[in-house]
Amino acid sequence: MTATSAFSASGDPVELNAELDDEPIGFATAQIHAGVEPDAGFGARIPPIYLSAGFVFDDFDHARDRFAGDADGYTYSRIGNPTTAAVERRLAALEGGAEAIVVGSGQAALSVALLGILQAGDHVVSASSIYEGTRGLLRDNLGRLGIEVSFVTDAHDPNAWRRAIRPTTRVVFGEPIPNPKNDLLDIRAVAAVAHEAGIPFIVDNTLGTPYLLRPIEFGADIVVHSASKFLAGHGAALGGVIVDAGRFDWSARPDAFPHLNSPQRALRGTSYVEAFGPSAYAVYAREVVASRFGPTLSPFNAFLLQQGLETLSLRVAQHSSNALAVAAWLQVQPEVASVDYSGLASSPYRRLAETYLPRGQGSVFSFTLVGGEAEARAFYDELRLFSRMTHLGDVRSLVLHPASTTHTLLSEDERLAAGIGQGLLRLSIGIEDADDLIRDLARGLAAVRALVARTQPEALAG
Ligand SMILES: *Cc1c(COP(=O)(O)O)cnc(C)c1O
Repeated sequence: MTATSAFSASGDPVELNAELDDEPIGFATAQIHAGVEPDAGFGARIPPIYLSAGFVFDDFDHARDRFAGDADGYTYSRIGNPTTAAVERRLAALEGGAEAIVVGSGQAALSVALLGILQAGDHVVSASSIYEGTRGLLRDNLGRLGIEVSFVTDAHDPNAWRRAIRPTTRVVFGEPIPNPKNDLLDIRAVAAVAHEAGIPFIVDNTLGTPYLLRPIEFGADIVVHSASKFLAGHGAALGGVIVDAGRFDWSARPDAFPHLNSPQRALRGTSYVEAFGPSAYAVYAREVVASRFGPTLSPFNAFLLQQGLETLSLRVAQHSSNALAVAAWLQVQPEVASVDYSGLASSPYRRLAETYLPRGQGSVFSFTLVGGEAEARAFYDELRLFSRMTHLGDVRSLVLHPASTTHTLLSEDERLAAGIGQGLLRLSIGIEDADDLIRDLARGLAAVRALVARTQPEALAG
């Protein structure tokens, strides 16, 4: 499948600049051209970085009309900014959504996406394998606000999700490529469970990126990303995005989403649903949640994000092919007990990978050394090319020991149930030469062999 056919197969029109508006375009074209209008001022080809807190009004009436929403244009950068708006249009096009809202980080995107729907007394269903920061947000932060959450442990069974739904459930939230175990989610099946219950399905597509996976095509209603990872891609800037598919029917259960269905003073007595139809959620999330809680993305970071997006397909293809080469090599090393990568024929998630990730299975995976913490430490400290970091989706290769870092808040039992032992290491494979990465990992495995020879000479005898 080529990039072009996969992208235009969705049938969704891509918002381009006016000259190209009617032509179907491929993903690689869209990542460079979508959403950008030549600058009205000096004709700059790249949207300028509008580092300005506010925008002047022509006169008294113009100010009044802007505030009333009767005049186009910008007022204050927390509400909207031209640099930011250009990258939002591009992200909406790449994900096949109706509208995108960028914010200061991935955690900000998750907070805004969820607070645009939930209130005290509501309930969320998610999986225990999701990103630890999101697990904490749902359990601790939203928990304090009176919002409850259930984490499904058997995320592969759609009935487990179905059983967790309550009359008060208002969101189903999932990650298609959970990290570090790569235990892929059948997102079409989970979307069906959410829709049976009349509630939206939110997907964190950080590890997939729209190049590998476009969750909206498989039933997601809202897609969020940590743009700090692959979208910006160079490990320099944090950012987040919420993409609304614009097709969830918020009016079907008015009692479930009262903030979108009841009359609002700010809307002169109409409701968000009456005023904005299928865009009700996106308008509410932007104007009431993001702009009030205030996690604004700097226009400078919006520019870095836009630069990153222009090479997304090239980088993610290289990330994926490098990851597959490294995973296949690790799998046959005697010091390695197992490799969790859905691109390998041995992975139990291979079939889901064929359905959802035909262009590549991404860059982030884990493997487990024979042994435990001592072996992990020997391996980790010996690497020279891999950076020891908690981050992912960087052009550089990164390595992390989850049991002693990101997953320390889990009990030993929870960690083992999640398959995260002391010998497990997570890799985020960059876009360097695969041979160089393998040479560095071989250096780490040699350190493990030396450790075993020193401490357990009998283990090597057989
Ligand atoms: C990194 C990450 C986040 C949080 O994003 P930040 O930009 O660090 O706030 C959320 N979800 C996933 C899957 C991530 O990898």
